[in-house]
Amino acid sequence: MKPPPFDYRAPRTLDEALADLAEGGKVLAGGQSLIPLLNMRLAAPDRLVDINGVAGLDALEVTAAGVRVGALARHAAVERSDEAAAVQPLLRQALRHVAHPVIRNRGTVVGSLAHADPAAELPAVLALLDGHVEAASAAGRRTIAAADFFTGPLEPALEPGELAVAAFFPALPPQTGTAFAEVTRRHGDYALVGVAAMVALDDDLRVRAARAAYLSVADTPLVLDLAEPAAQGQAGRPPGAADWSAAAAYAAERVDPDGDIHAGADYRRHLAGVLTGRALAEAARNALPGGS
Ligand SMILES: Cc1cc2nc3c(=O)[nH]c(=O)nc-3n(C[C@H](O)[C@H](O)[C@H](O)COP(=O)(O)OP(=O)(O)OC[C@H]3O[C@@H](n4cnc5c(N)ncnc54)[C@H](O)[C@@H]3O)c2cc1C
Repeated sequence: MKPPPFDYRAPRTLDEALADLAEGGKVLAGGQSLIPLLNMRLAAPDRLVDINGVAGLDALEVTAAGVRVGALARHAAVERSDEAAAVQPLLRQALRHVAHPVIRNRGTVVGSLAHADPAAELPAVLALLDGHVEAASAAGRRTIAAADFFTGPLEPALEPGELAVAAFFPALPPQTGTAFAEVTRRHGDYALVGVAAMVALDDDLRVRAARAAYLSVADTPLVLDLAEPAAQGQAGRPPGAADWSAAAAYAAERVDPDGDIHAGADYRRHLAGVLTGRALAEAARNALPGGS
């Protein structure tokens, strides 16, 4: 199918883009989600504001505090950045699971957040890390914490006229590791269930904190604090050798997925448990001195 007619704007500066958006319409970034929706006529905006010509929005800024990803930084650029991976390895770990390389060449990290698909990897990453989105409109700027940004399926907390100019992913603290695990029907498909995990160890290599964020189990990314069941799995074991089965069982009890033609709710719940165990174990290995 072809999209319904729309007015097309191609601003060259951020101010022009915000002025265009103030008149209404939707942002076009990589187009990897919006164009299919337009073609299927599931979206019919009066105007598209194509931000691809706006100078400076593709910046990827890496500092000791974290990684700031501009609205036009493509998935592939962020995935390839060794500097970004050194400061926040979860980005690369998760991006490897996003669609296929051709889609990652065009799709943007910020577009994925703004699309707010509960089956997408990056919203879970932002939620797990307590990151934020920087939004701008003709009226000014504001910062939206990850916990407030995802309000429902395909519903980001962006107001009409607002452009998400960047997303910020905080750096990983010392002795902390991350990992990402998911199950898909075919490589590159959206996940039946996915888990992003983070484990922090103390100086004795005992688990100090453990958290995981889930995709495809709820309308928005679900974040679970797994420190208590992780502590149970550590009792009586040597440092660095935690048993993650209690944390996996805890997570499986707390997720509440829907079933669909691809997978039943019980299977998804089972996957959430299994993937929790795997992701936490890998995150803990990565947290060890010399871990990646
Ligand atoms: C075959 C296929 C498989 C895919 N598989 C996956 C997958 O496994 N995991 C996954 O996460 N994604 C997947 N995607 C989606 C892909 O990752 C997109 O890149 C991503 O969802 C959106 O990024 P985009 O830049 O293309 O956004 P667009 O398609 O341009 O926009 C998406 C939405 O976000 C809004 N938007 C975009 N940028 C901004 C901004 N800066 N400010 C405000 N609003 C904005 C748009 O208005 C639109 O509503 C897949 C896509 C395809 C075609």
